[in-house]
Amino acid sequence: MSDVLKEVLAANEAYAESFGEKAELTIPPARRFAVLTCMDARLDPAKFAGLAEGDAHVIRNAGGRASDDAIRSLVISYKLLGTREWFVIHHTDCGMETFSNDTIRGLLENSLETAALTAEGWKDVGHGPGSRAARFLEFLPFNDLEQSVVDDVERIRTHPLVPRNIPIYGYIYNVKSGRLIEVAEATRIGSAAVASGSSV
Ligand code: ZN
Repeated sequence: MSDVLKEVLAANEAYAESFGEKAELTIPPARRFAVLTCMDARLDPAKFAGLAEGDAHVIRNAGGRASDDAIRSLVISYKLLGTREWFVIHHTDCGMETFSNDTIRGLLENSLETAALTAEGWKDVGHGPGSRAARFLEFLPFNDLEQSVVDDVERIRTHPLVPRNIPIYGYIYNVKSGRLIEVAEATRIGSAAVASGSSV
């Protein structure tokens, strides 16, 4: 058994020991919101956004991008589980800014081993064979952090399956301070439409 596997199972044993009232939680998130963010290991949405089990949906992928699959989850999140506000949170020093589709496709064509990030950029150090299958994959990298938040909020905002009354907030998480910084342009684009006749 690997060290990681042993550690994870031991940690889970301890967690389950004091599980208590969490057994009573229901499927819909109690605080009715969802977060789309990056899988980066330095980000812990439960901690930086103050979430307890059962509070909110957290959808994660490389970059926190509004991919078709992220939108699939968001649609289920509101349509079946009642979320009413969404956050798109990218972060500083994101690995998605370090490569292009061509870069990662080239690395994968060379080998299926972990590549190295050098001063000259990504370099494949593995032994082949690799695979050309990555030519069919869109990796959704970006080179402008703020713009990526704006683009993703806009893609969600304009999706035909997303209702106009859900506000979408755009933020960048700073990995050096732990702070969330608003991307005003994204939040403006993501703002909810006020229903006609509303007094708000
Ligand atoms: Zn990231």
